[in-house]
Amino acid sequence: MNISVITLFPEIIEGYFGCSIMKRAVEKGLISYRAVDLKLFADGRFHRCDDYPYGGGAGLVMKPEPFEKALLSLRCDGKTAVVYPTPSGKPLTHEKALGLARYDGLVFLCGRYEGIDQRIIDLYVTEEISVGDYVLSSGEVASLVIIDAVYRHIDGVISGESLKEESFSDGPLLEYPQYTRPEVFHGLRVPEILLSGNHGEIEKWRYQKRVEKTLKNRPELIDKK
Ligand code: SAM
Repeated sequence: MNISVITLFPEIIEGYFGCSIMKRAVEKGLISYRAVDLKLFADGRFHRCDDYPYGGGAGLVMKPEPFEKALLSLRCDGKTAVVYPTPSGKPLTHEKALGLARYDGLVFLCGRYEGIDQRIIDLYVTEEISVGDYVLSSGEVASLVIIDAVYRHIDGVISGESLKEESFSDGPLLEYPQYTRPEVFHGLRVPEILLSGNHGEIEKWRYQKRVEKTLKNRPELIDKK
């Protein structure tokens, strides 16, 4: 998959792609990426990418021309989605992440200030996605949330077994609690069953914990089914 992120701050994106699991996915050739500097596509001495909103009101709006030029500069091969992360988009869910993982290319447009001129959204955006019912100050962080939720579903990035047992991946239940060494931490012991070696009983215990956790933290997930 090729991921392009059009942004005023390419350094935020570069940092993410250079670490941990994503770094390994890039090194293995599973993912390629471009952090595209929007300012390089803005005219004038000051490379201005924002302007006052028509109709008045607070703040600034990101101008359409630099985004269009940046988009047209990308040579996108294969099936590509153009994603605008926005609080007024459709919610990011496990299913949405799986759907986006099937594309050959994803292009992200990072908004700032009051957002991007609507005409860019009308002309080029195929997916408007919200990462939650709150307002972030930047589209970079939201784009990275979406990218992180998506790329782990690309074959070879993470072991299939790890993905199968996660929250949301297997019906409406959240994941069971996890423990590692030491056996006792601040007087709290790892549940005895996990030390028993009895895999059948461990499975049952984990299922029961998944139900309890879901009822406590997200009861609506069970009600929805
Ligand atoms: N005026 C916009 C509104 O009320 O919907 C908020 C703009 S916000 C300050 C700046 C940028 O951050 C947005 O253009 C968007 O790219 C990003 N953003 C903020 N909150 C987001 C969210 N919940 N989901 C996705 N993107 C978000």
